[in-house]
Amino acid sequence: MTNNEKELTLRKLPGIDVLLETKTAQRIERILGISISTRIARSIIDGLRKEVLKDSGSELNQDSREDFIRKAEIEMNAILESHIKARLHRVINATGVVIHTNLGRAPLSHLAKEAILNAAGVCNLELDLSTGKRGKRGAAAEDMLCSISGAEGALIVNNCAAATVLVLATFAKGGEAIISRGEMVEIGGDFRIPDVMKASGAKLVEVGTTNRTKLGDYKNAISANTNIILKVHPSNYRIVGFTESPRIGELATICREQKILLFEDAGSGALEDLSAIGFGDEPLISRSIAEGADVVTFSGDKLLGSVQAGLIVGKGEVIREIRNNPLYRAFRASKLVYAALEATLDSFQRNAQFEEVPVMKMIRTGYEELDKRARKFVERAEVLIGARATLEIIKGKSAIGGGAAPDVQPESPIILIRGNQMTAKAIEKGLRGFELPVIARVSDDAVVIDLRTVEEEDESILISALDFSLGQSVTEAASN
Ligand SMILES: *Cc1c(COP(=O)(O)O)cnc(C)c1O
Repeated sequence: MTNNEKELTLRKLPGIDVLLETKTAQRIERILGISISTRIARSIIDGLRKEVLKDSGSELNQDSREDFIRKAEIEMNAILESHIKARLHRVINATGVVIHTNLGRAPLSHLAKEAILNAAGVCNLELDLSTGKRGKRGAAAEDMLCSISGAEGALIVNNCAAATVLVLATFAKGGEAIISRGEMVEIGGDFRIPDVMKASGAKLVEVGTTNRTKLGDYKNAISANTNIILKVHPSNYRIVGFTESPRIGELATICREQKILLFEDAGSGALEDLSAIGFGDEPLISRSIAEGADVVTFSGDKLLGSVQAGLIVGKGEVIREIRNNPLYRAFRASKLVYAALEATLDSFQRNAQFEEVPVMKMIRTGYEELDKRARKFVERAEVLIGARATLEIIKGKSAIGGGAAPDVQPESPIILIRGNQMTAKAIEKGLRGFELPVIARVSDDAVVIDLRTVEEEDESILISALDFSLGQSVTEAASN
């Protein structure tokens, strides 16, 4: 294209005011506001101008002004779509991964959701309603944590990573911190225990080997500079076979004698003994406290099944010292977190967690019950779907996820969906594109649905999503 031709083509480009008058731009303006719709229109015109000025842009000189406007509208629609998709949406988790990090980890109980809604407006976060004086933020949730775990004190921060940093910064700074080589783990999201220990100002003293660390290894490493022994639960992997690691109680005895702090980072931690349903490896918080750990940290949104939070429990004096660390102010949790935690801990206190807390309910649901649901689901779905896909129930496995209990994989009946004219990938994409997105796995060219992580009341929506995703035309599916 000659410069002259380019010049002529550029003159056909619509102005921002013209684009802003299109139906699409008007819609964007209603949804995202005038300043964003203007910015989008400007960026599209700039893009078209660059396209024309490129040597390869010659095909554009055939375009009329109307063609340019049509192209711009298509692009504006795509941008609007991506703006909307980028926001947080409720989705249905049909993956069978109970604590799915990409899906916000633990789904909250109805009671916890209600509590968040109640606290969202004005609430008595730091006001004692009986005296009218200033109250302590989080007092009720901390009291519940104490009563459930048997600890003297409790403190709540934003997540377990913050809790670990706070404990180390309070007690390990400037001295030596002992840790087993088998526990120098990375939690995910680049949270590496040895790096965090160093960043907290502690000198790392590694003991033992990857698979075996004995009580004597810890004893021999203690010096006059030792402040703390750190025991980390390797949440997201397991060393099996020839392994050894001392119990909390044994370490507590040494720590008491030598006046060293014993700190356990329990990760997901269990508030009650879940060994009957396969979670024997998860540290029981009350047991660690009873055996003499000075301080224990764990997550609010893993096995506890509540919001993102870091829970710290331990000896009264230890918790007081942590609370007085100026860093605590930087890590403190919001009223919404306390509200949800109060409600979740309340379910545990009333021993109603298996009915009320979704994570607890999902991990305990048995094969038989899920199988009944799966059969009913397939029956209902088949009526609607007809010949567009075949559905089959097979024996499979769910996962706990969230870096918790990697060795526990509850057996589940899983539903395989094979499209008669669509690939599994296309069906999966359709489910994800439904007005209430459904997240499912794909395996061996079948879409896999695991009802363990689907609330029973959402099954009808899932069936509609399936109907929607299979309803796309074959050509559209092929282009995906
Ligand atoms: C998950 C985990 C953490 C991090 O907890 P978050 O709440 O995600 O910050 C820390 N330590 C251990 C052992 C964990 O398993």
